[in-house]
Amino acid sequence: MNPLLRQFIVLISLSIAGSFSLIAQESPKPKNIVLLIGDGMGLSQVSASLFYNKETTNFERFSTIGLVKTSSSKELVTDSASSATAFATGIKTYNGAIGVDENGVAVETIIEQLVKKGYATGLISTSSIVHATPASFFAHSKSRRLYEDIAAFLPSSNIDFIAGGGTKFFDSREDGKNLFSVFKKNGYEIHTEELPKTLSTRKQVILLEEDEMPKMLDGRGDFLPNATILALEALSKNETGFFLLIEGSQIDWGGHDNDADYLISELLDFDKTIGAVLDFSKKNGETLVIVTADHETGGFTLSTDDGDYNKIKPTFSTTGHSASMVPLFAEGPGASLFGGIYDHRGIYQKMRALLIE
Ligand code: MG
Ligand code: ZN
Repeated sequence: MNPLLRQFIVLISLSIAGSFSLIAQESPKPKNIVLLIGDGMGLSQVSASLFYNKETTNFERFSTIGLVKTSSSKELVTDSASSATAFATGIKTYNGAIGVDENGVAVETIIEQLVKKGYATGLISTSSIVHATPASFFAHSKSRRLYEDIAAFLPSSNIDFIAGGGTKFFDSREDGKNLFSVFKKNGYEIHTEELPKTLSTRKQVILLEEDEMPKMLDGRGDFLPNATILALEALSKNETGFFLLIEGSQIDWGGHDNDADYLISELLDFDKTIGAVLDFSKKNGETLVIVTADHETGGFTLSTDDGDYNKIKPTFSTTGHSASMVPLFAEGPGASLFGGIYDHRGIYQKMRALLIE
């Protein structure tokens, strides 16, 4: 071989090997991923945790920050269904779509893929469990409004830990079916009164309200952080690893209502939950924690109070969603992959690269 050519090939192979080892060094793979979605949580909502929290905000504990573009396939301003479907499946779709593409065709979700690979999985939400955000991770429906159709996917999902509201979609259905008996047949332990203190080794379905969980302002208490701690304890027993989705659903509803007290109380509950997950992941060492939002709600700002720079007046510009990019926070093995600006499909792709590929 021509010596110059040989030298060139050696150089190229060295640099390829070098860059591979660089990737390996920079992105160790996690065993587990916890994805926390603050529904409707833009940067002003996150900033509220600085000004309205008596505790130090947990958002400051993250090393990697990204920004996520959220437009759906047909609309500039996304809804929760389309954005959560992008997180769950890696495709862009239309507003209202649950786990289906633009043509209404089902696309496998990351939870379905991980269940097949032997991972333990969990879903926790402060809305009903069939609401758009959690639904997009286990169901396939042309419309987010088809709650009973969506519910029918859950008892056979093999998801190990399910907690939230929404009993009526399982036991007071138009088709007369009682899906709790299907849960039972499939080996689930069912709780509808309160969060259990300890868990058996069986799969758990914990649905504590007919529809959504109560607001923090109406006394929900520590449901979200406590359910999270229970789930982490149960799922971390799996030797393959686990994936847990946690949604702070009602940050969005405070935004829709243009109700700053509602929004901020939900945000602080979510912040506390993030703290519990970060504490776990610090001890555990193999868990990647990702916090982001599906979109911003309310066009929320922390403006001056009529020119008084010593006072903040939380203000809204819409009762709907906005198209602002949303922040993403990542900590733990693989976190560095999540820096930069990308769209919501990127979250699926990066999680897939870390757990499945
Ligand atoms: Mg939601
Ligand atoms: Zn919304």
